[in-house]
Amino acid sequence: MISSQPSVIEHIDFTSEAERIRSLVATHGSPLLILDCDAVRRQYRALSDALPGVELHYAIKPLPHPAVISTLMQEGARFDLATNGEVDMVAELGLDPARTIHTHPIKRDSDIRHALDYGCRTFVIDNPDELKKFIPYAADVQLLLRLSFRSPDAKIDLSKKFGCDPAVAMALLQQAADWGIRILGLSFHVGSQCAEPTKHVEAIRSCGGIIMQAEALGLPALSIVDIGGGFPVDYQDKVQPIDTFCAPIRDALAGLPAGTRLIAEPGRFIAAPSMTAVSSVMGKAKREGRWWYYLDDGIYGSYSGRIFDYTHYPIDSLDFFGERSSSVLAGPTCDSVDVIEDNIMLPELECGALIVGRMMGAYTSATATDFNFFRKAEIVVVNDAVSEEYNVVPLTA
Ligand SMILES: *Cc1c(COP(=O)(O)O)cnc(C)c1O
Repeated sequence: MISSQPSVIEHIDFTSEAERIRSLVATHGSPLLILDCDAVRRQYRALSDALPGVELHYAIKPLPHPAVISTLMQEGARFDLATNGEVDMVAELGLDPARTIHTHPIKRDSDIRHALDYGCRTFVIDNPDELKKFIPYAADVQLLLRLSFRSPDAKIDLSKKFGCDPAVAMALLQQAADWGIRILGLSFHVGSQCAEPTKHVEAIRSCGGIIMQAEALGLPALSIVDIGGGFPVDYQDKVQPIDTFCAPIRDALAGLPAGTRLIAEPGRFIAAPSMTAVSSVMGKAKREGRWWYYLDDGIYGSYSGRIFDYTHYPIDSLDFFGERSSSVLAGPTCDSVDVIEDNIMLPELECGALIVGRMMGAYTSATATDFNFFRKAEIVVVNDAVSEEYNVVPLTA
């Protein structure tokens, strides 16, 4: 259940924002995702301020959109690539490959060559078979060793599928040295939407230990620590402000050997606040005493993160007048699993009413489908440097 007024838009002039959303829907139709590049800039700057001295590589997968990448390029950001499609996207936008790292722990030889052809030189491995794939490219690459620090309480534990057990890290570093492959540093990803920075802090401390252990064994120096992503944003559940979240991480990073190059791979934190979903009520029915509203977007579309990302977005009707009662918001497909929220307090809505979902930039359109031939929401870019809507629709304060 959500609170009666979404706090994320508290400081905004509701009337004029509603008018702007209505005018975008009049122009572009429904469903829509409004992508506000100002939000991308604001998030990038906030995280840069919270993590001074850390290179921010935007992990493209939560929102692989050219406007996001161009906006971040203007901010001087770096990028975290994982697939050939992501390589092609940044190459097309003219991104300097020196500003990229490739972080997929499992790659085909053709994937490695594709990234090398573009000019990316930094890759990630977490096991001997992957390491072996770099023997032919030893002269051209530098690697990061991804470690696994399990975080069973993270919503998405990214150390289950990937990462080398720290206990076998020395053996892998030795193997790389024997094969003449440079491993320049360590990386990890403790999980996405972390409520607490505890796992990051523990992982950074463990990396410090591994760096010293490698040094004691006379292995090549480890001079990079990449702390991955996982920085949280406010959904229906609120989290700590980013500066508070990062304070213990800053302290832990200060304990690493002087001169260690520091990297982070934020995805969600940069992308999530940038998109606002707008959908329309296609039909309504009263079932077992409650209103069901059927929207033109649902969990097979922009709200796919309800399933894949376990996220409850702040959702409300654009006009929030009238008495609210427990209602159901369903998507348009014929599938009964296509329910966005099954207990949301809404005023009674009419067909055509607009529903607004906030914080819908990360892991939403990226995982949407057009199941049942319901087209994916069009993404309308505002406040980027080239869009015709530039500065016309400042959606967020
Ligand atoms: C998905 C991913 C990220 C981004 O994670 P967020 O939790 O969205 O910040 C960063 N690095 C890697 C390797 C990833 O797979």
